Amino acid sequence: MKITDLKCAVIGQNPVVRITTDEGIDGLGAAETPKHYLKPMVLFYRDMILGEDPTDVERVMLRIRRMGSFKPWGAAVSAIEVALWDIAGKAAGVPIYKLLGGKIRDKVRVYNGNIRFPFDGYQPEDFAANMQKMKDLPESFSIIKQGIAFHGSPMVKNMPGYYYGEYVPKDRYPNRGVMTEKGFKLTVDCVIAMKEVLGDEIGLALDCGPGMTITDTLRLAQALEPMNLMWMEDAITGDYTPYVHPDYFLQVTPYTSTPIHTGEQIYLRHNFKDLIERNAVNVVGPDPLDVGGIAELKWIAELADLHGIQMAPHGTADGLIGLAALVQVSATLPDNYIAFELPTGNPAWWYDIIVGLPDPIVKDSHIQVWDTPGLGISFDVEATKQYLREEDADFFEG
Ligand SMILES: [Mg+2]
Repeated sequence: MKITDLKCAVIGQNPVVRITTDEGIDGLGAAETPKHYLKPMVLFYRDMILGEDPTDVERVMLRIRRMGSFKPWGAAVSAIEVALWDIAGKAAGVPIYKLLGGKIRDKVRVYNGNIRFPFDGYQPEDFAANMQKMKDLPESFSIIKQGIAFHGSPMVKNMPGYYYGEYVPKDRYPNRGVMTEKGFKLTVDCVIAMKEVLGDEIGLALDCGPGMTITDTLRLAQALEPMNLMWMEDAITGDYTPYVHPDYFLQVTPYTSTPIHTGEQIYLRHNFKDLIERNAVNVVGPDPLDVGGIAELKWIAELADLHGIQMAPHGTADGLIGLAALVQVSATLPDNYIAFELPTGNPAWWYDIIVGLPDPIVKDSHIQVWDTPGLGISFDVEATKQYLREEDADFFEG
């Protein structure tokens, strides 16, 4: 089998990859919703993989893997990897999980880091009211993650005197600094308020940064120990930080029982090596659509397991194609697997154009693993055409 074309269309906001072959089998991959600008980057790899056998996934990846980087630039490579696995699975007539060593669970746990409600304010009662809405969702999530402190910056942005720094209101600007005592206490009180809503049956995870100092992170992690958090994510470095700094985390992780988590921005297993081998964190959270793909994530989970580190894959903006990829790989991960972050279709018409997902997708915080070949999903081509941009009109041809 030979690759005949690599196409990319921006559908909604998700760059979608389609690889075609000379045997009529095609494969799908995608990148996160905010990465609509990625199309030229995907097409950059086209000439490097044409004519290759897509079912030799690793051989194809060796041609392009070096040419990626930390988030957002590893996403194009990752989307191609997913599409290759989709083809390999379809060609073999088996779901991807069979090619990764087989599933060890029939249903995969998911957590909510994605389905959100607007905030009325940033006081403890606002966090509590917001958490109640997430608790009441029909998915019955058993773990809910909430952004706090520097994450997404609503607290640093909206709370005067939250930290000793001047907030720069630019998208992706790396605001960081020392928290005031007032900001610190407010953060603790908000977490306590959320935990009171959740009780001891639903786990609470926090997405905290990046932007916190080492000492604030340690202080917060220790103060929140009685809350029995699932994890504290990306407090110091993390999302869109193009480096790792295990030494920073090593000044926190050994000194608190609150699990410390990072990894959504990291590209390739090599960049997890220090973090994992030095036990710099307790939980890693690579995203299959950023880390280099499905097999890359599986590899990292196995290495993490050898070092007693847990795995909670990132996925919030991965869309429904990313959801399928997450289900396939998560079914195969060792028992250090906690849950993956549920992506949703955005806009909602994505649910009308993707065929093959269970209905409802999530029951009791789990997704049943399906058995159809490859990713096990496809486009309803006729229903999708209305959403194709003019320049992508030939996306389904060939
Ligand atoms: Mg995060």
